[in-house]
This record gives sequence, C-alpha cells and structure tokens, in this order.
Amino acid sequence: MTSSDRSPSPRADVVVIGAGVMGLAIAYNLAARGCKRIVVLDQHYLAWGASGRNGGGVRQQWSTEMNVRLMQESMEICAHFAEEMGINVWMRRGGYLFLARTDAAATRLARNVALQNRCDLPTRMISPAEAQALVPELETAPFVGACYNATDGIVFPWPFLWGYARAAQKRGVIIRTGTAVTAIDRRGDDFQIATAAGTLTAGRVICAAGAWSPRIARLCGGTLPDRPVRHEILSTEPLKPFLKPMVSVIETGLYVSQSLRGELVGGVSLPEEPNPDGEVRLGSRLAFLTTMARGLTEIMPRLAQVKVVRQWAGPYDVSPDGDPIVGELPGVPGFYVVCGFGGHGFMMAPVVARHYAAYLCGEAPHPFFEAWRADRFAAGGTPSPHREEMTIG
Ligand SMILES: Cc1cc2nc3c(=O)[nH]c(=O)nc-3n(C[C@H](O)[C@H](O)[C@H](O)COP(=O)(O)OP(=O)(O)OC[C@H]3O[C@@H](n4cnc5c(N)ncnc54)[C@H](O)[C@@H]3O)c2cc1C
Repeated sequence: MTSSDRSPSPRADVVVIGAGVMGLAIAYNLAARGCKRIVVLDQHYLAWGASGRNGGGVRQQWSTEMNVRLMQESMEICAHFAEEMGINVWMRRGGYLFLARTDAAATRLARNVALQNRCDLPTRMISPAEAQALVPELETAPFVGACYNATDGIVFPWPFLWGYARAAQKRGVIIRTGTAVTAIDRRGDDFQIATAAGTLTAGRVICAAGAWSPRIARLCGGTLPDRPVRHEILSTEPLKPFLKPMVSVIETGLYVSQSLRGELVGGVSLPEEPNPDGEVRLGSRLAFLTTMARGLTEIMPRLAQVKVVRQWAGPYDVSPDGDPIVGELPGVPGFYVVCGFGGHGFMMAPVVARHYAAYLCGEAPHPFFEAWRADRFAAGGTPSPHREEMTIG
C-alpha cells in the first residue's frame, strides 16, 4: 500500500504531514487536479490517528447553514466513494436520532430542524414515542423530545483511508509511513522537512496532523491554539440487527450505532481531564467503561446483558471556539493547516479536502476559509460568524 523506497525524494512541490483522512484526502484531491510531486509523511501507519479510531458517524444535522450545506456535499461524496474508488466502505444510511432530556435542548434541536428543512433536509422533530417506534429497545422516560433525519448514516472509516491512499498513489503521490517529521526549517521560499529517513525540500507544507498539529506548528516557529482531548469508544459482542439509526443524547454526548457486523459501537463525553503539557493520551480508563455502561443501559435497559469486547481511545482535536482551523498559519507563508475538527473531522474531510485542494490550485476560497481562519484567535482577530453548536458524535 505504501512506498517501500525509504530514501525521501529530495524535492516536493507539496509535503503533507499526516496520513489521516484529512491529509490523504487533500493529497488525492490535489493529484486529481493535476498537481505533481506530492509527498505525504506519517509517523505511524494509515489509520493510526483519530481517523482509524472514530465512530464513523456521517450526518447533515448541524446548527449553521454553512455546515449543513458542507455536510450535504460530503454525504454525496461518501455515497459515491465506494463506486469511484473501488472499495467497500460499508456505508449504511440508517439515519441519526438525537434525543433531548431537557426543554432547552429540545428547543435548540427544533431551531436546527427549521434551518435544516430550509436547506432541503428532511429532518423532523418527533416525540419520544415516535423515537421508540424507530428504536423499539429505547426507554422513553428520560426524554422530552427528539429529532430524526433518515438520510444520515455511518461508515467503516478505514476503507476511506485506503481508498484515498490508493487513488492518490495511482496519480503519483508518494506516501511514506513510519516517517516522523522531526524538524522544519525555512530556507528562503522553501521548507526543509527533516525526518529520520532524510530531509525533503518543499515549496508548500500542509499540516494535517490532527491533534498533533500544534506540535508541528511549533517546529516551524508558529503557534496553534487547539488542544488534544482524549475521547474513548467501545464495541460490544455482535447482536442481531435491531438498531437502524445512530442514536445520540444531546446532554451527555452519548452516541451508539450498530455496525453491519452487529456490534454496538459508541462513546460518551467525560469531563475534560487536565492536560497542562498538551500531550495526546491514548490509554483506556475504567471511568469511561462505567459511564458508558450506565448511559447505555439507561436509554436501552435490555443491553445490561451485552458484553463489551473492546475499548480504545483517540484524540479529539479541539479549538478554543470548537470550530476548525484552516488556511495559512499566521506568520508562516506557505505553511497551511487543517485541524481543530473535534469529533466530526472524519465526516467533513471529503468536502473540506475537495475545497482545500481547489483553493491551493488557485480557485476562490470556500467561505469556510474565512470562518475558520487561524488568525481569528489572535488579539483583535474576528470570531467565526458560523459558530457551530452540534459538536457531539
Ligand atoms: C473516538 C473518536 C470518535 C470519533 N467519532 C467521529 C465520528 O463519528 N464522525 C466524525 O466525523 N468524526 C469523528 N471523530 C473525529 C475524527 O476521527 C477526526 O476529526 C478526524 O479523523 C481527524 O482526521 P485527521 O486526518 O485530521 O487527523 P488524524 O487521523 O489524527 O491524523 C493525523 C496524523 O498525523 C500523524 N502525525 C502526527 N505527528 C506527526 C509527525 N511528527 N510526523 C508525521 N506524522 C505525524 C499521525 O500519526 C496521524 O496519522 C472521532 C474521533 C475519536 C477520537
């Protein structure tokens, strides 16, 4: 899958740091537009980062028009991905069901539903009893309302990475795994990117290192304000199919779906742990297991007998206002970032990468470049006008 030649090319037009979904999708889109000499570097293997550890949720239910429309486009890309890339991504459009325990949350959902309907999305507010008709195992007592969009879904994340990687390589992109970037120096208009396997020169660098992006930015003298937040997830033994939609509880951040193989896959928000050194922590905790077990059995009591077979963790990459950070890094011309996507970077990668590549090829920037610009956090910076509130699951 990846190049076996260990000697790095001496010069690239574009070096992408990070072979998660974002880096691979941007490399693919650039190559598809005819860009040459693209090298993608990753310290580990494909799917080692958040892109290989996530829940595969792909939804269009958002609270800003820009995000609804972006995700409608992303959904279209996802829906045709298997056919175009020749790889099965196990996509299943069973819908997304958001449950609200409080009137305040239900009111917010209703406001979002009105916006989504204006964008031609068939989302609708439903009662807890109607939610139970969709998910017969659901306990209705904790909930005052819900919303449901039948055209949302879930995918198996890994084949997206393999599909993008293979299609990029077919178009000449070099992907080097096991190749950590250790230093970046500015030499005139160029960057010198050092790895244990040698040094590369490139005119442009794209930092798609997810939660590791602040560390990469520091290597070239820049700063990024996003922080890694450990997010845990588990899967159970396989069960007969009974759960069509992804189910998510607004107030707790709990989400759960059933994979095509029958396992339940889901996570829940825990209070953010102190992380003064900004390290990415990937260990599993008992507190997650117990919180998730309680949360799941509260909404579906019959799951009390189900066995958990695996739990793991990955990093949410969280910006100070919860919205992503994209574009040129302030003070470092030619160094582009694409990070801060929290718990929804997987579903946004196909569409963000498409527009990112278009912008780098000289086309007019999509409005997200203005909304998510990196310098909005600097003193006197303009806050994002599109502040998103549906950042769970
Ligand atoms: C448990 C969990 C559940 C989630 N659920 C969902 C979901 O349902 N739907 C959704 O859309 N999103 C979800 N997300 C978020 C989503 O996974 C991320 O937003 C997305 O995968 C980020 O992709 P990325 O390519 O930017 O980063 P990553 O996939 O993290 O890739 C970054 C890469 O950079 C590499 N790297 C780091 N440092 C260096 C270096 N020095 N040199 C070279 N390479 C380096 C890493 O090895 C890594 O491969 C979830 C995340 C987690 C953790």
